[in-house]
Amino acid sequence: MPLPSRQRLRSLMREREGERERGRTGLAVLVVLLTVAVLVLAVPSTATGGESGTGTGEAEEREPIPQGQAVSGERRVAVVMVNFRDSRLRDAATLEATLTDTYFGAARSLDSYYRAVSRGAARFVPSGDAPVIGPLDLPMRAAGCDDARMAEETERQLAARGVTEADYDHLSIVFPARDADCGWSGLASVQGSTSWMPDDLSYDSLVHEIGHNLGLGHHMRLDCPDGALDDCTETDGTSHKTPMGGGGAAAGLAAPEMAHAGWLGAESLRVAESGTYGLRPLHGPAKGVRALEVPLDGGDRLLLELRRASGALDTEVDGVFAYRVRGGDYAESELVDTGPSEGDPARVGALAAGDTLVSGATTVTVGAVREGAATVRVTLDGEEHAPVRPTPRTPQGTGDHKSEQRDGEGLAETGTGAGAGDLVPWVVAAVLLLATGAAALTRSGTHPARGRRGPSSRRR
Ligand SMILES: [Zn+2]
Repeated sequence: MPLPSRQRLRSLMREREGERERGRTGLAVLVVLLTVAVLVLAVPSTATGGESGTGTGEAEEREPIPQGQAVSGERRVAVVMVNFRDSRLRDAATLEATLTDTYFGAARSLDSYYRAVSRGAARFVPSGDAPVIGPLDLPMRAAGCDDARMAEETERQLAARGVTEADYDHLSIVFPARDADCGWSGLASVQGSTSWMPDDLSYDSLVHEIGHNLGLGHHMRLDCPDGALDDCTETDGTSHKTPMGGGGAAAGLAAPEMAHAGWLGAESLRVAESGTYGLRPLHGPAKGVRALEVPLDGGDRLLLELRRASGALDTEVDGVFAYRVRGGDYAESELVDTGPSEGDPARVGALAAGDTLVSGATTVTVGAVREGAATVRVTLDGEEHAPVRPTPRTPQGTGDHKSEQRDGEGLAETGTGAGAGDLVPWVVAAVLLLATGAAALTRSGTHPARGRRGPSSRRR
């Protein structure tokens, strides 16, 4: 089936999401302004980032990256098992135990993942006394994979039990996959509450789908040869730096996604003047600046981060990376890839000491890249600065980062054998993103593209 162009999908996404954007913009702006005001007062003017000494920036204002409405506190998840009239879950008791672990377990769970990336700010908890509800018997057939009806029937039955939308933040419907033939490994409303998961769901795809619920789109890659940011080409490749871009749940979120979720706090910096800035690893316990934002002409922004393994996060993602944020929408950013993107996908886009990104009069040059810190020199106005002394990179990226296909293989839609050049799912329609990419989007390098319309706009 012909697929809409990526651009078309994007504009569709913007169109569909415009409403909610407008709705939350006011509040978000207020929150951001208040946060900025507090931080400007609270953060001392000295560098807080360890070796993030600023070459010319003593007088610089320590303004953090403006962030979205914070995702914080307990997110209540109603996990509901359902049967179809003609297709039932084979072993609901075992599935219930599996789901309890996958959603709320101490490790490799939805809760453990987002707890780690948010540094404890957000937790996912059962919406009621039982971690899993059901199975409910839906009065519908499996064939056709009617996700809208699945949601309607599930909500109706929950209401009959006294469970309404007020009782949960996320509704996750787990159904027997074998006869539904959905062709995807998960589906979710973007900036919404509903997700649909097949009963053979994976940890990777669950983290990906709930990322959609939090407003995140698919995370793609821009080709910017020689670091010329004004001459980039969109690709159908994913970034592999986040579960939203094929990195699986072994990857943390990328810096723009962290900003979208409000999880960078004061440990980020919006560059207001030329200078040399330090970065600490984005994930993990290190204190200091975890993300840098450089303003670009036209309202776009460049975000820089240092990724290093920490606990269960970023076990494969390693290095300094840059992302282009379009028009200030942190939910929609792309990895800047300056070189031929070959080899280990988790390393694609890694910037080495001396690498330079240029846009108009703005120049960003990577300085030292060490184990626990990196430096970046930013020139905003075209003025000359002493060249950054390239520092040998810490040995890393040994090339044996073979992606463990274990998780990816479980994702049904990988089976299409679609090539890496295929259109990636920027799938949206009634604010529904087929999270399928999941495979692609969770792990592997193949990106089957699937778009589909979601349920009616009642889902936001
Ligand atoms: Zn997706």
